[in-house]
Amino acid sequence: MIDLHSHSTASDGALTPEGLLQRAREQEVRQLALTDHDTVSGVTQLLENPSPAASAVTLIPGVELSCVWGKTLIHVVGLAIDPYHEVLTTALHGQHAARQRRAELIGERLERYGFTGAYAHAAALADDGQIGRPHFARFLVEQGHVATMQQAFKRFLGAGKPGDVKLTWPALSTVVEWITASGGVAVLAHPMQYKMTATRRNALAADFKAAGGRALEVISGRQTPDCTRTLCRLAERHDLLASLGSDFHSPDTPWNELGCSGELPRDCRPVWSAWEQRHRGQVTGSRHTL
Ligand code: AMP
Ligand code: MN
Ligand code: MN
Ligand code: MN
Repeated sequence: MIDLHSHSTASDGALTPEGLLQRAREQEVRQLALTDHDTVSGVTQLLENPSPAASAVTLIPGVELSCVWGKTLIHVVGLAIDPYHEVLTTALHGQHAARQRRAELIGERLERYGFTGAYAHAAALADDGQIGRPHFARFLVEQGHVATMQQAFKRFLGAGKPGDVKLTWPALSTVVEWITASGGVAVLAHPMQYKMTATRRNALAADFKAAGGRALEVISGRQTPDCTRTLCRLAERHDLLASLGSDFHSPDTPWNELGCSGELPRDCRPVWSAWEQRHRGQVTGSRHTL
């Protein structure tokens, strides 16, 4: 079992990096990519404190970068990155500042709705991790302003809503360059989550490929076989490899359980061939067995 998309408390996940690895082992995941939003702090924590309990899981160092393509917010996953590469660490400082600035703007906008202390509460919920919209959503739920996280996104934080502030993110091509420069493989995350027509999605995949993107997330969490086939064809059309991952955030959302995202169709070329080839070529350093 392989899972190439997951989150920890270093961003908006519920489990610590160590807790996540533990759960991966319980779910019999053999290769796990930790891909927190705009940070590798969970990855470096695991690399620097190898856990004997997690000896069964190979950690693929990863990250999920926020960027924009035109006016659309896009996520690009970087896999088998060198988390200590200077290009990446510099870029992640910038992403951290962008997240911070965006959080302040979201806070100001929510204050206008009378949600007092939004920024301070969300920052407290994020603790030492990257602050994101889910922390604002939790604040709105905990204060009784909305009933659920979904509702918080639907009314205040989702695409086109007041808390949807995108102006701080870099361009798609820029984040692909960062990932490539740091030895990683750039993967277009959950292509079906972006609200766009099939024609635009095709244009997105073409631009992503032209920018140096290498793979498409053909499976993201639980999805229909139809969706998998469509994305497999899209990957083929643009000569992109295929990735799969649960996008696990929390044990409370069992439909996104670690490792339970099915198998790639046979005619897809799996993304791990990219780093397995490199491994055979004796260029090591990005793949660690804990
Ligand atoms: P951010 O990275 O701060 O822009 O927040 C995006 C994150 O919010 C995603 O990675 C999801 O974890 C979460 N998210 C997005 N849409 C929803 C939703 N409708 N309900 C709950 N969580 C969501
Ligand atoms: Mn998230
Ligand atoms: Mn995402
Ligand atoms: Mn994700």
